Amino acid sequence: RTLRTLYQASILAPAADPALVRFKPLGTLLDRVSLYQGDITRLEVDSIVNAANQSLLGGGGVDGAIHRAAGHQLAEECRTLHGCDTGDAKITKGYDLPSKHVIHTVGPIYSSKDADEDAEMLTSCYRKSLDVGTANSAFPSVSTGIYGYPIKDATHIALDVVRRYVETEDKIERVIFVVWSDADKDVYQNLLPLYFPPE
Ligand code: ADP
Repeated sequence: RTLRTLYQASILAPAADPALVRFKPLGTLLDRVSLYQGDITRLEVDSIVNAANQSLLGGGGVDGAIHRAAGHQLAEECRTLHGCDTGDAKITKGYDLPSKHVIHTVGPIYSSKDADEDAEMLTSCYRKSLDVGTANSAFPSVSTGIYGYPIKDATHIALDVVRRYVETEDKIERVIFVVWSDADKDVYQNLLPLYFPPE
């Protein structure tokens, strides 16, 4: 009822899909968090978060999709930033994206031996991204693709950080969690009510 859940076709077609997704302004705390299934590069928001690597020079997964959709100027600006540490976040313009900005954050490469440190780093990614970010931002599931972080553990972290943040920081109007796969969508749908319970 209170979670605004939006779905789109889950087929990856970034270049061919001309549809932009616009979000209406919202009011209440619960309305400030959304789940969206689809391509993050099509969202018309203030910022989209990029699950980047330390070089910030582009890579695979969502990073590749964002650089392709933003055009070469994004890589040029990224080059001036001289990389980014794991757990940190840096903001650039969005160039050809419908999103005004890109927040580049570097998640941990998951290792079950260093699970505590990885959890700290992933927590830091979400926090720093919200710190440098703008009123409306969309997050992919950082570290859970090529970097191998278990999706359930990562989703608990993402939801916990965002819950605390939107409760205490008025500058964040809206956070959109973006998932690609049906399996990830199910995880978010199951966990969202724990952190944002319906009234
Ligand atoms: P990492 O290297 O941090 O693990 P990946 O890009 O490999 O980052 O994966 C992060 C998540 O982003 C994965 O769940 C992946 O399915 C998802 N993803 C890949 N492309 C897109 C896209 N265009 N829009 C939204 N999510 C995407």
